[in-house]
Amino acid sequence: AVKTLKETDVQVMPELKSSHEKKRVGILGGTFNPPHLGHLMIAEQVADQLGLNKVFFMPDANPPHVDHKDAIAADQRKAMVELSIAHNPLFELETCELDRGGISYTYDTIKELRLRHPDWEYYFIIGGDMVAYLPKWHRISELVKLVHFVGVGRSGYSRKSRFPILWVDVPLIEISSTNIRWRVRNHCSIKYLVTDNVMDYIREEGLYRE
Ligand code: ATP
Repeated sequence: AVKTLKETDVQVMPELKSSHEKKRVGILGGTFNPPHLGHLMIAEQVADQLGLNKVFFMPDANPPHVDHKDAIAADQRKAMVELSIAHNPLFELETCELDRGGISYTYDTIKELRLRHPDWEYYFIIGGDMVAYLPKWHRISELVKLVHFVGVGRSGYSRKSRFPILWVDVPLIEISSTNIRWRVRNHCSIKYLVTDNVMDYIREEGLYRE
């Protein structure tokens, strides 16, 4: 016999309720050199506004566009991401790009994640500054069919794109990893720009001092 669900059943068995829906997973890919409160804020806002079940923080292995003067060990970036997200149950570290090594192409990553969980829906979060570069991404016209791109504002960005982007309104916060590295190098405070545990880690490891 088919059992009819009552409201009380759903409360007792929440997993039953969610099994009827596709899992919606956000991905915030980045260099995280270091991770800052801008990253945490956009991930939280997108998760909240789109009703995501979780957000992966995914450090890349070998970002093609980064100024290597400030490059640090992948393990240190990974450790700081773990420290940053430690107190948010929605956030999870995803290491598939670090594990794979080489240049991190998002297309390869999404293929890999979809093999692991074919039934999940992926929302790839990008700052507005990245939108202009999308046409250069590896296999972008196939990639846009595999994930929803979610754009969030960043100063100086444009919403013009020939690819479909779901825009989510977030407070504009002008924090960047570049600026944090500059501040450390110039003995300026980074408190309230990164989490306290990341600030301590940067100090203890002597990062970005030159
Ligand atoms: P860098 O200054 O070294 O280029 P970053 O601050 O842009 O670093 P990334 O780790 O490269 O940090 O960013 C990962 C993702 O988060 C990118 O899509 C980026 O656009 C987005 N992002 C980072 N900071 C912000 C911010 N303050 N507001 C909106 N999006 C952001």
